[in-house]
Amino acid sequence: MNVTGFSRYLGPAQMFYLCYNWRINHKVAMLATSRFLATKIELVTEMSIQTFNSGFKFRIYPNTTQRQALAVNFGHARFVYNRYLTHRSATYQQTGKGLSYNECAGDLVLLKKDPNFVWLKDAYSQVLQQSLKDLDRAFGRFFKNLGKYPRFKNKHGKQTARFSQGFKLAEKQLYLPKAGWVKTKVHRELWGQAKSITVSKTKAGKYFASILCEWSQEQPKPIQGGVGIDLGLTHFAILSTGEKIDNPRNLRRSMRRLKIRQRRLSRKEKGSANRIKARLAVSATHERIANQRKDFHHKVSHTLARSFGTIKIEDLHISGMLKNHNLAQAISDAGWNQFITFLSYKVEWENGHLEKVDRWFASSKTCSVCGWKNHELKLHQREWTCQACGAIHDRDVNAAQNILSYELPMEHREVTPVRDDQPVGSQGRKPCTFRSG
Ligand SMILES: [Zn+2]
Repeated sequence: MNVTGFSRYLGPAQMFYLCYNWRINHKVAMLATSRFLATKIELVTEMSIQTFNSGFKFRIYPNTTQRQALAVNFGHARFVYNRYLTHRSATYQQTGKGLSYNECAGDLVLLKKDPNFVWLKDAYSQVLQQSLKDLDRAFGRFFKNLGKYPRFKNKHGKQTARFSQGFKLAEKQLYLPKAGWVKTKVHRELWGQAKSITVSKTKAGKYFASILCEWSQEQPKPIQGGVGIDLGLTHFAILSTGEKIDNPRNLRRSMRRLKIRQRRLSRKEKGSANRIKARLAVSATHERIANQRKDFHHKVSHTLARSFGTIKIEDLHISGMLKNHNLAQAISDAGWNQFITFLSYKVEWENGHLEKVDRWFASSKTCSVCGWKNHELKLHQREWTCQACGAIHDRDVNAAQNILSYELPMEHREVTPVRDDQPVGSQGRKPCTFRSG
């Protein structure tokens, strides 16, 4: 009898039990079970499909009426968020336990029936519910120690409203409930299935729609080769291959313009129309800098994730480094955290492997050839010669090479199988399909 033929429908324990009951002796049962397990693992690795979420952000241009409709949604969503944040905080202080999403949602239904709060119905009902879900997620992150305690939303900050239903995307337009068809600049192709749309208005008054799409792909074959990355300020990143990526220093470059605009703002009378205008100009400069930085991070992380299967990077203690006031601005301008976030999800798409290397590991002072430690190395020395083996090192490239060869202690290591075929990348993503709203 072909025992493994059955195995597709059974778990390993059942399999073993069956064999045992059939009075096949113990050894055969073990063998069949292990063979079954092997085929099962093979099946899994062959057909492994992964699901990802990606956000696609487009600029939208609502007209005056649509802006008003969006403002209602923003405002009401913020009201709901803040109201239930207060409720949850109060309950947490009294009982030590927060309110659940369902309790809040139930309460919101009752609130909308209250004659004092009927105006809540002017907003799309899903937007208000999503606001509760966002709050719930913020609390979830806080309780898992992943985020700070949720903060109140402010009407002067960035405004957002999330639509999980009722939206449609046409060629150059986006349909949003309560606002209608909004002119949209679809500047790139999107893929996967759209799950929700977050509409936002930045401080500078620009509107965006961020479309969250779920897509899946067959796990691509991992790319061969690894790289160590040393992050710095003179150069943004130094690779173990010897390549140095320049730091664009977007903030420093725009500093003059920013200062002029900030000075203009400070001279304007409070509450005046000119002050509002000046504030918009300052916000626009900040947004421009943030966009340039984001663009740079996307490009570098994309290239790295597509070129190397294993990427090792220093685990930076950024909040600690920011306490050094001389460097704080330059460090936040480099935006390493954002870069590492981008890199980590892009590596995941490519089925690669990102490792963070212990930050106390002396990567600059160790000779990457023989392991000798140069305790005398000063910060200004950009080049040094190993006294044990005579190798001449570029300080940063040597550090990156050490990061690459650094081995994590066994208990922290994840094993990723490496295959020797050609890299596949993440081609073959399906174009976006929208649920009819
Ligand atoms: Zn050496």
